[in-house]
Amino acid sequence: PMSTDQPTAWVTIDLDAIASNVASLKERAGDAAVMAVVKGDAYGHGLVPSARAALRGGATWLGVAQMAEALELRAAGVDAPLLTWLHAPGVNFAPAVREGIDIGVPAVWEIEAVAQAARDEGRTARVQLKADTGLARNGAYGKDWDLLRDAAARLQAEGVIDVTGVFTHFAYADSPQHPTVLQQQELFRERVADAERAGLKPDVRHMSNSAATLTTPSAAWDMVRPGLSVYGLTPVPDLGDAASFGLRPAMTMAARATVVKRVPAGQGVSYGHTYVTPRETTLVDVPAGYADGVPRAASAVGPVAIEGKRFTVAGRVCMDQFVVDVGDLPVEAGAEIVLFGPGDHGEPTAQDWADAVGTISYEIVTRISSRLPRVYV
Ligand code: PLP
Repeated sequence: PMSTDQPTAWVTIDLDAIASNVASLKERAGDAAVMAVVKGDAYGHGLVPSARAALRGGATWLGVAQMAEALELRAAGVDAPLLTWLHAPGVNFAPAVREGIDIGVPAVWEIEAVAQAARDEGRTARVQLKADTGLARNGAYGKDWDLLRDAAARLQAEGVIDVTGVFTHFAYADSPQHPTVLQQQELFRERVADAERAGLKPDVRHMSNSAATLTTPSAAWDMVRPGLSVYGLTPVPDLGDAASFGLRPAMTMAARATVVKRVPAGQGVSYGHTYVTPRETTLVDVPAGYADGVPRAASAVGPVAIEGKRFTVAGRVCMDQFVVDVGDLPVEAGAEIVLFGPGDHGEPTAQDWADAVGTISYEIVTRISSRLPRVYV
């Protein structure tokens, strides 16, 4: 959105927190490189500024889901190695080949399409083979792995592709004791050995998302691939809060009270009057709603802080606003209401919001809409 002098609601992004989170992940990863995952508009934090902050913190690779995200980084002048891994038939890989973007391929149709783009462009395409070792999602599974490996060896011999990496993704990294964590590591070892026997020489072999980076150092291989933790949030809140993992949440979401009013006992609040004031009290209107990414499921349960004191959403979250009952707290129109932040000034965290509405912190931050200005500090 266009900038306004006094935004109604906004998110602040602490870029130094992103850089220091990456530095902390890098230390944990030992000799392995860090690919900072910046898909989904850097988990809602803003693609380009977040990517630059991650590079400043020591990431040497960036990872995205979609080719358009990778191209946006290149267009902004980001020349770091980049991997994109989610494409459907019909996509034109030529721009990615031209921009030297690594293309993660899970299927023969895709490696053939990349090779064709490379022939058309007269360049060698950079390809990373994606093995399905048990997630049963995007990745070459079972016999399809053999077909993909054979196609990769043939196309590499033809000189149209260079296999720069082999990777996979965990199903249960957030439960490090789960048997699939070892099983997937074992099958990945086999897939890597198989690729190398076929004459492929991947530089980067990688499997660790945030949870594996934080809990399973034996899976680090040449590179780790954290996303959520780059932004200071933990995928394993039961194993410790962000600070215990050396992470600091980078995003703060806040809004300015539009209207404050005194109402008597018995006043129904917001659509459907699902909340009724128990006594004479002060209501504060907060201009952030589900169109901004505040979950409607936060009705009656979402936490906020005003001057460091905690309150809960009163009644239903609307499209653009919700109401808070602050009792007798003196609040003026224009007062700042913090929905979530790092949590060290009495405010809730994105994890608190996730717990309140029954989701994960990933969903809280990635769904903050583009309507909210991002303020970088
Ligand atoms: N690698 C791949 C292939 C992914 O799809 C994702 C995100 O889901 C990540 C890494 C980063 O995961 P996380 O945000 O849990 O660290």
